[in-house]
Amino acid sequence: MTPTRQCVLSSRVFLEHDGGPAHPESPDRLRVLLGALNARAAPVLERQRQAMAKLAARPDQDPLLADAVAAVQAVIGMGDPGWVEGGRAATVAELERAHDPAHIAQVLTIAAAPGPWPRDVGVEVPIGPGSLKAALWSAGTVIEAVDLARRGIEVWALVRPPGHHATRRLSQGFCVFNNVAVGALHALARPVVDGQPAGVPRTTRVAVLDWDVHHGDGTQDIFWNEPHATLVSIHQHPLYPESGAADERGAHDNIVNIPLGSGSDDRDYCNAIADRALPALTARNPDLLIVSAGFDAQVGDPLAGMLVTPAGFGRMAALVRSWAQARGTPLVFVLEGGYKVDTLADCVLAAMGVPE
Ligand SMILES: [Zn+2]
Repeated sequence: MTPTRQCVLSSRVFLEHDGGPAHPESPDRLRVLLGALNARAAPVLERQRQAMAKLAARPDQDPLLADAVAAVQAVIGMGDPGWVEGGRAATVAELERAHDPAHIAQVLTIAAAPGPWPRDVGVEVPIGPGSLKAALWSAGTVIEAVDLARRGIEVWALVRPPGHHATRRLSQGFCVFNNVAVGALHALARPVVDGQPAGVPRTTRVAVLDWDVHHGDGTQDIFWNEPHATLVSIHQHPLYPESGAADERGAHDNIVNIPLGSGSDDRDYCNAIADRALPALTARNPDLLIVSAGFDAQVGDPLAGMLVTPAGFGRMAALVRSWAQARGTPLVFVLEGGYKVDTLADCVLAAMGVPE
């Protein structure tokens, strides 16, 4: 299924995050992906142009949206890529919805200190000079994606560093801040209290579907005591970070873990989504769905042992899209992992619904 209105948000800022040579979470992941989008995503660009043109007719309702529309128009005016040079940095106040203030302060301190690069900002989170800006932009771009999605556009936030292993108090597993959690908790924030732009539909229940091959342990940690936030995670188990057993359910029965054995393929993943994840989401009845879209369940990924093909990712996304469209649920996809760089774009473009 091809979405009727779709927007891709990304930025060259994300290419500036570099954890050092030979690190699997490399700038090349996104560089290759954006290159493929530029080459193959004319239909995406056209849908994006149409969607943004409609929104541009009423930008006065929303300064944030006006900025996004201006960015799109600037890019289109340059005849440039099939993606939007958009996004922004998250503020500390926005990060504090998901992260302990002391943890945020520690990250900022480490990133600002003199000395050699790369340096570790947590557990297995090497950063370079451009990484803090990229991390702030990853979280902020998901916020922007959430606000666009709540106006009826399917948004793909192609960001890095990824986020789903970052807990409330710890950066880990290549993840500095938890981008999807920051976006989700932004959506739940009360508009008047938090000064959200007028005209954004109120979100009262948010869900994250995490199909990255690794368990979304950071998102689980942040959502554990959040009665209005749900996490459904499908992941290889056992595998890093080793959590994610089915009996980990959250303080409000709001965590659903679906561990799969090594060697699971397209059929296993589609069945897990159709038979387990989507019914669990239906029961929680969210009015916003964010997909932690990792692509490291791809066959041949160096960090895992699953067998999902690009076509499989296309079917997985189509199942989720159908569910969301049938319910009118705003839908955001956020890039997480995926380390087989030569075919990563095939998976992402298939999931977007971009024709071959
Ligand atoms: Zn992963």
